Amino acid sequence: MTVHSPPEETFGDIRSAVRELCAGFPGPYWQDLDVRRAYPTEFVKALTDAGFLSVLIPEEYGGSGLGLAAATAILEEIHRSGCNGGACHAQMYTMGTLLRHGSAEQKQRYLPAIASGQLRLQAFGVTEPTSGTDTTRIQTFARKVGDRYVITGQKVWISRAEYSDLMVLLVRTTLRDDVAKPSDGMSVLLIDLREAVGRGLTIKPIRTMINHATTELFFDDLEVPADTLVGEEGNGFRYILDGMNAERILIASECIGDARFFIDHASRYARDRHVFGRPIGANQGVQFPIARAYVETEAAALMVNKAAALFDAGLPCGAEANMAKLTASEASWHAGDTCVQTYGGFGFAEEYDIERKFRETRLYMVAPISTNLILSHVATHVLGMPKSF
Ligand SMILES: Cc1cc2nc3c(=O)[nH]c(=O)nc-3n(C[C@H](O)[C@H](O)[C@H](O)COP(=O)(O)OP(=O)(O)OC[C@H]3O[C@@H](n4cnc5c(N)ncnc54)[C@H](O)[C@@H]3O)c2cc1C
Repeated sequence: MTVHSPPEETFGDIRSAVRELCAGFPGPYWQDLDVRRAYPTEFVKALTDAGFLSVLIPEEYGGSGLGLAAATAILEEIHRSGCNGGACHAQMYTMGTLLRHGSAEQKQRYLPAIASGQLRLQAFGVTEPTSGTDTTRIQTFARKVGDRYVITGQKVWISRAEYSDLMVLLVRTTLRDDVAKPSDGMSVLLIDLREAVGRGLTIKPIRTMINHATTELFFDDLEVPADTLVGEEGNGFRYILDGMNAERILIASECIGDARFFIDHASRYARDRHVFGRPIGANQGVQFPIARAYVETEAAALMVNKAAALFDAGLPCGAEANMAKLTASEASWHAGDTCVQTYGGFGFAEEYDIERKFRETRLYMVAPISTNLILSHVATHVLGMPKSF
């Protein structure tokens, strides 16, 4: 029995095509990768070949020219199917920086190759070990020398760098002390990782509680051509902020997918598992938490849809993107916790995929932005309360 279909399911054809593709990558595929902390190469190739990772690229460059709402449907279905989009979702949100701020020449050089799968744009380098969430304090610096930039510094938690050809990198091009506003003086560079690794860039994998191919990057006088710069020098923070709204909305849609995965599984298990001579789901102590998770997820999904619609209409959506990420990440975490509880001991067994998804969905209350920072945004930017930092 299908537990639930959202009442206003959009992009029905895309959703069923994604579900069909994901059916070829069942639990054992992910369990094996998880143990080995290996990259889902075949899964990413299948998504690329089917054109799902290039939906945001305009048709003139070989993509499908769809909006963010279509991309949220794809990621949601991937996650609801028990798969994980973390290996490749960045191709969708990093794209915006190039689409909106890249030169005509950069778009022509890269977009068709990305759309065809010849080039991968999967890495997004912002976070640094010492600055944390306080992005204006990043220290990685690109010095202009003739027709080149020379980059020194360090990044941390840069996911998929080993499996990407290109990386959108945020650097300082003017020191924080030398600019009028802390957010000035940062720039975006589009780094060709194939050229950079071993010539000033070192990538070191970080093993984490989930299989996420995340890494540390060390820049030691890496030289890149000056035309690596995207947009204008000094304006990079604004470009990245644009992309961050897209990222938050897309990640929120993955959380909705995770939450629906957990609710599907928990309610099915609660109907099927008999203890004390009746289904465990006949007990309100078991069914109410699942029903609550469902209510919370449906409410969060409305916010994700609203944020995506605003984004696609070119309207301001910072508050909605943040609220979508907060509500969806909490809904998926609560649904995951409820699912583990419903499965009892079997929730801990690797073969059921619940423990893996439970670990995976926990990430989203921390990354790409933590819950506290979202609350701070809402408190100060929406409700007008004083800034605390
Ligand atoms: C698996 C993984 C993959 C990632 N992938 C990428 C990637 O591809 N690219 C990239 O650039 N980054 C990536 N990140 C980094 C991620 O975006 C950051 O970890 C996240 O934004 C939190 O930053 P931080 O870890 O530096 O925490 P910190 O900024 O050190 O904060 C630690 C805690 O303190 C809280 N806190 C800090 N300041 C305040 C305050 N003023 N008020 C209230 N609470 C506060 C935070 O909410 C958080 O809970 C990834 C992280 C992980 C774990």
